[in-house]
Amino acid sequence: VTDILIVGAGGAGLSAALAAQETGASVKVITKSYPTRAQTCMAQGGINAALGIQDSPKYHMDDTLKAACGIADPVAVQSLCEEGIEAVRWLDRVGVPFSRQEDGNIAQRGLGGAQVKRACYAKDYTGLKILHTLYDCCNAEEIEILNERFLLELIVCDGRAVGAVVLNIKTGETETYYAKSVILATGGFGGLYGKYATNATNTTADGIAAAWRAGARLSNMEFIQFHPTSLAKSSVLISESARGEGGYLVNAFKERFTDELAPRDKVSRAIYEELQKSGAVYLDIRHLGEAFIEEALPQERKLAKLYEGVDPASELVPIKPAAHYTMGGIEVDDKTQSSIEGLFAVGECADHRVHGANRLGGNSLLELVVFGKRAGKNAAAYAANNMLTCSKKECQEDILSRFTGHDKVGFYEQKEHLSEIFYKKVGIKREAKGLQDALEFVKALQAKLPKMGIKDTNKVYNTELVEFLEFGNLLAVAEPVVRAALAREESRGAHFREDMPLSKEEYQARSIFVAGETLFVKDGVKQ
Ligand SMILES: Cc1cc2nc3c(=O)[nH]c(=O)nc-3n(C[C@H](O)[C@H](O)[C@H](O)COP(=O)(O)OP(=O)(O)OC[C@H]3O[C@@H](n4cnc5c(N)ncnc54)[C@H](O)[C@@H]3O)c2cc1C
Repeated sequence: VTDILIVGAGGAGLSAALAAQETGASVKVITKSYPTRAQTCMAQGGINAALGIQDSPKYHMDDTLKAACGIADPVAVQSLCEEGIEAVRWLDRVGVPFSRQEDGNIAQRGLGGAQVKRACYAKDYTGLKILHTLYDCCNAEEIEILNERFLLELIVCDGRAVGAVVLNIKTGETETYYAKSVILATGGFGGLYGKYATNATNTTADGIAAAWRAGARLSNMEFIQFHPTSLAKSSVLISESARGEGGYLVNAFKERFTDELAPRDKVSRAIYEELQKSGAVYLDIRHLGEAFIEEALPQERKLAKLYEGVDPASELVPIKPAAHYTMGGIEVDDKTQSSIEGLFAVGECADHRVHGANRLGGNSLLELVVFGKRAGKNAAAYAANNMLTCSKKECQEDILSRFTGHDKVGFYEQKEHLSEIFYKKVGIKREAKGLQDALEFVKALQAKLPKMGIKDTNKVYNTELVEFLEFGNLLAVAEPVVRAALAREESRGAHFREDMPLSKEEYQARSIFVAGETLFVKDGVKQ
């Protein structure tokens, strides 16, 4: 039996693996893809840390709490901001090639909602460089990583998580892994918005849905961050670093209309409104000059050329807001343990109570490392103190036959429909009627799910099967998202209700989805 089973090999999973291994515990990591393909590698703009002399953890904390609109936990935010400094120093020591100032110190750029330049970066490949460095470290430590293993269900015994049942995508067989503690690091659920999201297409809530099915509480699921600048045609992200370095937003009349570096919820709403008024919004970085763009924003330039057919050095870049980050997730305590004993969660799949209603750019990469290390250490301590008493049994299931058959109807069209509904009715602006329509749509789709299935009957590398499982997971979390959005009868941060545009004191609380019901909890007390 492994001490710690980690599901997910993005920045959060790999940080947790390194910290757990350092305690002497045995660690096994599984991932449905390959570590180098985790969404973390798409992060461009930077990772926050108050390194500069004009900055301090207190300023970082103030900015984070302000963006969070009153529902982040100051204690959790304080630890993120204070421990963030050592987290970035550690990344530097283990080899992340951060861009440098002339004096050799790590260079930092401004991102929205930050009062000083705080985001450390590696050109605009920050997540890629961090992920590859962490993966190198895991390989050097000989941490066992099993690729192409899809988490199906958690094994919970007497209220305690003791392992997982997994589909081996290569063979089509199910495998059972027991462990003394389990860490979920499976990423968020931006995939709900399909082509209207900047996310990797396989960001599909798998860990959140598995935890929820096992009885875990979910937190703040209604808060979905829309990034202001994705390419108009493809939703591919153009990082905030483009505005951080001095880029402008202009409307169809080439006029600036908003503070480009306000928090993301405000900028996204301003763009959304401007798109409705003038019909087009562009990012303008031409004045930064070709040499600077090539040096500081090379990836942004390549992406704009490739996916929009424009060169930002000489042309305006058409943009629109797109779903980008899911602030909510599995509820965890200060040790990153979920409401299920022995089950830890970290990274975008968890709600560490630091983002509240709106995440500050650069704070997600930071949370992966700070809380990833914390999850690894705490899961190891838990494993050291708790023997595995559960009797083990192999769970062999022919899941292929469950989803194939001549009577099964396809799901791809429904998946697309779900994302359309979410973008329109559970998007940047929401109101009761649209949310109610979305809920009815989700309930109807859930009822149809048993009749849906796949055509491909091959066991080996059945990607249709994997995509169907992902669709089921998205559909599972769709309900808590809409229910929480309906229950929160106010506007706050990324959750903007056109029918209730003001924030209300009674909702200055986290929403908790448990046993099909949404509760509001403040300082641990039900409201
Ligand atoms: C385009 C883009 C740019 C961004 N830029 C920034 C930035 O500049 N700064 C910043 O702070 N944040 C940024 N973010 C946000 C940040 O990148 C993510 O929040 C963060 O990387 C999530 O990391 P994670 O480790 O939690 O999950 P991920 O990196 O998504 O990794 C999830 C892991 O879980 C595995 N997994 C998922 N489901 C299963 C399953 N069923 N079975 C087995 N394994 C599974 C996946 O294979 C993967 O290994 C950006 C996000 C995007 C999309």
